[in-house]
Amino acid sequence: MYIKNKLRFFVMCGLSFFIVVLLLIISISSVLTVINNNKVAKETAAALANMPSISQEDNSGEANVTSNRTDIDETVTTETNSTTVSSSSTSDILILVNKSHGLEKTYVPSDLVDVDLRGVRDTQLRSEAAGALEKLFEKADAQGITLYCCSGYRSYDTQKELYQENVNLYGQKEADLVSAKPGQSEHQTGLAMDVTAESVNLDLLESFGDTSEGQYIKNNAHKYGFIIRYPSNKTAITGYSYEPWHLRYVGIENATTIFNKGITFEEFLNEN
Ligand SMILES: [Zn+2]
Repeated sequence: MYIKNKLRFFVMCGLSFFIVVLLLIISISSVLTVINNNKVAKETAAALANMPSISQEDNSGEANVTSNRTDIDETVTTETNSTTVSSSSTSDILILVNKSHGLEKTYVPSDLVDVDLRGVRDTQLRSEAAGALEKLFEKADAQGITLYCCSGYRSYDTQKELYQENVNLYGQKEADLVSAKPGQSEHQTGLAMDVTAESVNLDLLESFGDTSEGQYIKNNAHKYGFIIRYPSNKTAITGYSYEPWHLRYVGIENATTIFNKGITFEEFLNEN
């Protein structure tokens, strides 16, 4: 019994010693990790502090690329700090209309105005979007880019006729890729405008995206609050083929975020 107790005593001592050593190792290694992290953070901060001057001097050949990248970084930063998207004042402009989010048959925007711009036909937009489009056209004119309005607000009934025409012409499957069912058209929101140019015979064609007018729209629309609502290669998300002519008003801040991130309106709404 005595020997057994003595043996148990030594085993217990050994075990306790082992645990104490283990705890010591763990605490030392965690202290070292904290010190190391601080060092890395300081080095990163120092590197970041030096970055702007380097990139400004280094943009001789790739000015656009550099400035675009800077824009992306800035937007991502402000976006994570921003909660403005869900506020009631912007939610109205950010109304989502697509194949799974429709509008009432009776919905008519209360603030429609005639668009006083060069156009294929008379058309209307909500006042805020109309004002923004006027600025976009004005700036384009100043740069020798001649744009035409084609189609803005469309009522439920007009869309119904248009959709039926497309079904008659192309069959329902094709029609669904290029035309919205009544109640599912963004044109009913009064926030969408199809634009065109003489270079595509004032028509709505995919090739508009390659013209100087289409390129101007693609690169500048966001500065006035518009997005290309149906970009190429995004049909799986938007439900529609590429439409370089279909502008949707979402406000300058939101449009700029969408442009910089290269995302669709659906993805933007999911993120916010
Ligand atoms: Zn359209």
